Amino acid sequence: MWQRGDIRKRIIQKYAENSVALIEVFGKDVSRECSVCGFIGVKDHGIYICSVCGYSDDEKANTSRNAKKRGESGKELSVKTAREGK
Ligand SMILES: [Zn+2]
Repeated sequence: MWQRGDIRKRIIQKYAENSVALIEVFGKDVSRECSVCGFIGVKDHGIYICSVCGYSDDEKANTSRNAKKRGESGKELSVKTAREGK
């Protein structure tokens, strides 16, 4: 049985083992924000649609782009290097 926080701990451990830096970002609206223009769009059957700029893509791809952008733009919660681990 998984305990609360187990998956997070396991991810942190795997990143450290593979010498990969882990950057945690704010999750608020990360799946609702348009990764192109930043406005809030809608999701329909796995597809993300922005009514402002017309961008549409798989909703998970849009969410991933937003998370990447947040990490790159300094909106991260914390940055852990491989040596810090936990
Ligand atoms: Zn947009």
